[in-house]
Amino acid sequence: MLNYLSQTDSEIEAWIKHELERQRHGLEMIPSENFTSLAVMEALGSILTNKYSEGYPGKRYYGGNEFIDEIENLTRERAKKLFGVEHANVQPYSGSPANQAVYFALLNPGDTVLGMELAQGGHLTHGYKLNFSGKYYKAVSYGVDSKTHLLNYEAIREIALKEKPKLIICGATAYPRTIDFAAFRKIADEVKAYLLADISHISGLIIAGVHPSPVPYADVVMTTTHKTLRGPRGAMILVPKVIDRWHEIYHPTSKRNLAELIDAAIIPGLQGGPHNHQTAAIAVALKEAATVEFKTYGQQIVKNAKTLAETLVKKGFTLITSGTDNHLILIDLTTQNITGQQAQVLLDSVGITVNKNLVPYDTRTPLDPSGIRLGTPALTSRGFREEDMLIVGEIIAAVLSNPQNETILAQARQKVKELTDKYPLYPELN
Ligand SMILES: *Cc1c(COP(=O)(O)O)cnc(C)c1O
Repeated sequence: MLNYLSQTDSEIEAWIKHELERQRHGLEMIPSENFTSLAVMEALGSILTNKYSEGYPGKRYYGGNEFIDEIENLTRERAKKLFGVEHANVQPYSGSPANQAVYFALLNPGDTVLGMELAQGGHLTHGYKLNFSGKYYKAVSYGVDSKTHLLNYEAIREIALKEKPKLIICGATAYPRTIDFAAFRKIADEVKAYLLADISHISGLIIAGVHPSPVPYADVVMTTTHKTLRGPRGAMILVPKVIDRWHEIYHPTSKRNLAELIDAAIIPGLQGGPHNHQTAAIAVALKEAATVEFKTYGQQIVKNAKTLAETLVKKGFTLITSGTDNHLILIDLTTQNITGQQAQVLLDSVGITVNKNLVPYDTRTPLDPSGIRLGTPALTSRGFREEDMLIVGEIIAAVLSNPQNETILAQARQKVKELTDKYPLYPELN
């Protein structure tokens, strides 16, 4: 690989090779990360990056888009079919701009948005005070129950009744349990709010049938394409039904349906030329996600996460909600004599990549929180199964329980090497 780069830019070539070796020889357990196929990367690295095509298929501001139109139409059709929606916008550069576009389409500055609190598992774009969503909109938030750490739909309903949001966002970055989209719909209907389901983390699980779909309930669905969906970095905005259910209330003078509002928010609202190489790579990933193998993959992600959770619980660790329904696990290290930051650095030192994370009602700070977050999508892409996750859980438990013990740390490094040797990553690349 990198035949041309090696001739023109040996510095960048060297860093890419270092990063490939890092990905190969470590256990990648950040739940938002994954390994795309070489086919996805081939499309992403293609000549499509050369083309400008502001607008949409059939309505471009530049000439020469006859083939780009075919690619974007195919991507949209694959997305619509896979998720069972009436409309798909595949142009958002990434998840955050996609959420921005949904706000721009549905709200006016200063309107009230109800999202999940960042510190309890929500995303920056769900109303965090330093994010556009918290600066330009009146953001109010819900969290998880202080005892069970589960979403409490009655408590969320009460906040909604009091705050009367125009948009409710459901979806999370650090919630280990199933989200009840029907319950959110009921709340949204009661207060006449739009419902945005942000399924960035779980879209691959939804396609695989191991998490319920928000499509029957949400007005708009947003997903990144690079997490469990295993495509390139990017995002899609899906519109289950183009008829705007609150049109008479919120858009009485507009003739645009929901799909048209979303499309106009992307361009001319927020973006210029779409990243056609990214669009094509999303199409390739969507074709892969429509296969039986992908279904098996999604099921295995959850089986692996459950095995990892059980192993950690057996070793005496405290997991938020005591386990997981999906691809991720939050460990509360409060009783473990180690902070999230220390745990992240320690695990890094034996080749395991995780991220430090606030736990619900954390008394520590985001830069040195009480927990770590781990997930199984990337390891499952390498081929890891339950028996491997058992070993991974034992390594993590041994390391976190013996941070000073060089013998145990050395053994952990050896076991990481055995596992990564067992499942080579990108063996085709040299
Ligand atoms: C990852 C994520 C995003 C943002 O995606 P980026 O591509 O990093 O901008 C938005 N919402 C949720 C819930 C996410 O997990």
